[in-house]
Amino acid sequence: MIDPERFCESLAQLATQAGFAQQTLAEISGYPLLAFQRNARGAGESPFRLYLSSGVHGDEPAGPLAIARMLENDLLPQRLELVLLPFINPTGFALRTRENALGQDLNRDFRHPKNQETLAVKNLIDSLPPFDLSLALHEDWESVGFYMYSISPDSDPSKARAILEAVEQAGPLERSSLIDGSPAHGGLIDRPANFDIEGRDDWPEAFLLYSKSRHAHYTLESASSAPLEQRIAQHTAGVLRAIELHCS
Ligand SMILES: [Zn+2]
Repeated sequence: MIDPERFCESLAQLATQAGFAQQTLAEISGYPLLAFQRNARGAGESPFRLYLSSGVHGDEPAGPLAIARMLENDLLPQRLELVLLPFINPTGFALRTRENALGQDLNRDFRHPKNQETLAVKNLIDSLPPFDLSLALHEDWESVGFYMYSISPDSDPSKARAILEAVEQAGPLERSSLIDGSPAHGGLIDRPANFDIEGRDDWPEAFLLYSKSRHAHYTLESASSAPLEQRIAQHTAGVLRAIELHCS
């Protein structure tokens, strides 16, 4: 598993090497909540803006490790304006729990934040221009394969399907027709553009992001039961394919 203190140091080093500016949004029980931003190079007046996050749940290491790997191998294209929040719940990782040290599921707290972590992330998102694409990396302890939630302003699932095709090259998809209570097909839980986010008070990060600018959002879920290297490879494949498809 991940040691939060060492992992934050390593993230900071990798991100700095990759040309990111670092910001500590909050101190959470002595751990920094780190955000990294990098301006686009050679992309003209209005570069494509990507938000990429992970580590909202402390028992889901694949997302943070995938982002660290992408930084280490310099896989994120320079032409993007990037905001990275790789490790939102450090106390959850210290305790190896889904929730933070206060027992709160942060991914139900992005509408009216009651936790330091979600408040810091919301304040950052509120202070920034809208994004063109946002991606959140998670894991699921119950699924046997990889799946993805998609919300898109054009209600066209073709890009989401293409992302999952790339993910499948690195490992199997979840084929169940019902995932976490939602109808799914080929590993995709597809939310329409008019998906009712206002009716819920316990917003996940995805709803906060989508409420800002109605851009395409994907929440990628790897199966915790799969080998860690496979989960990392699937997340990486999904992120890179999503970038390729949306920012061509
Ligand atoms: Zn999660």
